[in-house]
Amino acid sequence: MTSPDTMAQEAATPLLDWDSGIYREAVNQFDRVAAYIDLDPNVSQRLRLPQRSLVTTFPFRRDDGSVETVFGYRIRHVLTMGPTKGGIRYAPTVNFGEVAALAMNMTWKCALVGLPFGGAKGGVRVSPELLSRAEKQRLTRRYTSEISTLIGPQRDIPAPDLGTDSQVMAWIMDTYSHQVGHGAPGVVTGKPVELGGTAVREESTGLGLAYLLPLALEMVDLPLEGTRVAIQGFGQVGRSAALALARQGARVVAVSDLSGGIHCPTGLDIDALREWTDHNLWVEGFPGGDPISGEQLFEVDCEVLIPAAVQEVIHGGNADRITAAVVLEGANTPTTMEGDQILQKRGVLVVPDILANAGGVTVSYFEWLQGLQYYFWTDEETRQRLRSIMTNAFREVHRIAREEKVDLRTAALIKGVARVAKAKLLRGLFP
Ligand code: NAD
Repeated sequence: MTSPDTMAQEAATPLLDWDSGIYREAVNQFDRVAAYIDLDPNVSQRLRLPQRSLVTTFPFRRDDGSVETVFGYRIRHVLTMGPTKGGIRYAPTVNFGEVAALAMNMTWKCALVGLPFGGAKGGVRVSPELLSRAEKQRLTRRYTSEISTLIGPQRDIPAPDLGTDSQVMAWIMDTYSHQVGHGAPGVVTGKPVELGGTAVREESTGLGLAYLLPLALEMVDLPLEGTRVAIQGFGQVGRSAALALARQGARVVAVSDLSGGIHCPTGLDIDALREWTDHNLWVEGFPGGDPISGEQLFEVDCEVLIPAAVQEVIHGGNADRITAAVVLEGANTPTTMEGDQILQKRGVLVVPDILANAGGVTVSYFEWLQGLQYYFWTDEETRQRLRSIMTNAFREVHRIAREEKVDLRTAALIKGVARVAKAKLLRGLFP
């Protein structure tokens, strides 16, 4: 049980909770682009801060009968564009600043690919691997109840993120439906197919990465066939990217997760690795490769590096040891600004998170639409529309980068921020 002392200590440091490195980085990045496009200072001041935020502390019962109190958050960055959209994460690092930064990131991502959403994010500060299924369900239902005044099919629509999955979304949908008195499939995306989810959602972020990689490789004159790829993270994003890329002819030579990593210079058997992790949970011990540490993954000889786990893993301390020619950001904010500058100086092509991992929210958008209309598409239709949105977004970002002579991250942010700023000015100030 969290002691009252710890709670009081945490409550007494609200500024620390807000002022995290990741939030500062998100604001610095925004400021840089705002200055570049000469953004109206009134709008820029508004967009630096999240619009509507909920911080909650709530209890849930452990299997041994004890009660634990945890911190939860749901933050909606901008309500101008329509409902807000963004994942819910369960992780021990979650704090206000992290959630606010990721919500802001979602705003630019949705605007960049042209989805009718503002950005949001939510999370609970808890280690999901230490929860039993029953504990996770109780925690999820209570958290849903706490944030129920913010979420809804026309208000704010959560989705899976780090440490959450389709089962968690099913519990959120069920709890919310009980509260409003009718089934409300549109309140979350990433649901199980039987509840109105789409089969493609689970693989959507990885598919999006796989659709973009050939376009990125073209920019550095490398073929996809045989290209060596290293992936950090073998969860929803890392695993689906590995499977899709292996099917397209790339060689996935290294994969890591929280347990460590494995390496095979001729290419790992990804189907076998998937089966292994289905039974053993972690990549550790997989017989089809040599063990490496999580940090060694970044130094493995490869053409492509895909961070698909947590934030700020490419930084000043390791960016100059990365051998890849292309970094495709599957995770959200995996590269610090310092790491990014080093990669740029070294001529590494970075496909930024708000473009590279937009496949997830795009298929979430499709699922939300289908939930509102009770009309469902085939998986093939979903994949085709995803490919078209992703490749168009990439071409547009590439065009801006060429014309403005900036990197892809700046170009993607220019597109996203400018669209939101224009919408804000068109709607005007109330009252
Ligand atoms: P997940 O919980 O399904 O998987 C995370 C994976 O990362 C696991 O294999 C875990 O073991 C590994 N991991 C965690 N901490 C690590 C560490 N310190 N070092 C090495 N590996 C570590 O999460 P996910 O849904 O795959 O999300 C991964 C990232 O992608 C997150 O940054 C998330 O915000 C981002 N993202 C997810 C989606 C989505 O659709 N799920 C969409 C866009 C972006």
